[in-house]
Amino acid sequence: MSALSNSDNISTGCSSAGKGSSVDVIISEVGPRDGLQSIDQCVDIDTKKRWITAEAAAGVREIEVGSFVNYKLLPQMCDTAEMVRHACGIEGLTVAVLVPNLRGAVAAIEAGAHKISIPVSASETHSQKNVRRTHAQMIDEVRAIRQRIEELPKAQQPYFEAGIATAFGCSIEGHVPLSKVVELAGLLIGAGAEEVGLSDTTGYANPQMIRERIRAVHCAVGSDKLTGVHLHNTRGLGLANAAAAIDEGITTLDSSLGGLGGCPFAPGASGNVVTEDLVFMVESMGLSTGIDLDKLVQVRSILKAGIAEEPLYGFIPDAGVPVGWADTHV
Ligand code: ZN
Repeated sequence: MSALSNSDNISTGCSSAGKGSSVDVIISEVGPRDGLQSIDQCVDIDTKKRWITAEAAAGVREIEVGSFVNYKLLPQMCDTAEMVRHACGIEGLTVAVLVPNLRGAVAAIEAGAHKISIPVSASETHSQKNVRRTHAQMIDEVRAIRQRIEELPKAQQPYFEAGIATAFGCSIEGHVPLSKVVELAGLLIGAGAEEVGLSDTTGYANPQMIRERIRAVHCAVGSDKLTGVHLHNTRGLGLANAAAAIDEGITTLDSSLGGLGGCPFAPGASGNVVTEDLVFMVESMGLSTGIDLDKLVQVRSILKAGIAEEPLYGFIPDAGVPVGWADTHV
């Protein structure tokens, strides 16, 4: 696998972002967005700032710090602009945010985010329920965001990705045909997204599906237009799916510290793939993440103090690394 350049492509308002990214796999921490928006309580901004600062210090190079959504619906995300500004002050960090529409994208650009992602659900029913938009309307939204980005000087243009949500199955429609995902990927790239990501929003994926769908999308739009996947561990297959994705050439993997967040569709289930376990697996496979696992595990104490009632998942924090492992993985 070649050295990673995903974040190197990102033109940013923050001159240091994307530098020093000579790692094989970028672990993109999405806990401050996906994890926190899935829990009821609002976490104070100081805890959130300390969390991302500590993760960046452990070597995490990309963090999704929040989303520019309707704060009446998701009050947990009301301080995203301030989070972006704080995160932009952290040397070498790519600051990502999620936006549901043009309005969110404009706010993200104003705040100075380096990377913006718009979720577009492969399941039309899910799309209607999630963002109250049809596929055609979402494609129009992507086109409008691209147009807005093009109006900016090159150096201020954020990297623009469309994440295909429910790409492996939908909790309302059930099976999502592969042909639908491939078709949508083509439309999103055509409308101006720089790349698409595949999101296992519902935790329905398995390694076979991961391989099949990544290959099909690579074939349709080019392997440089799909470099990241967003996996949940709802049914315990998160790491197996991540390993399959890496084998297919994926170089950016989303995860959340302690698997924070749970799943609204499966009460009691964990959230995203656990960052600590994912880093352990990737490094054990001989690939570099640039992350100090020991330091990363210590960041959990910030969450334990700030969100004491939320369960934190993960095997590595409990079991530790194998004897001798630390000598070969720094
Ligand atoms: Zn998610």
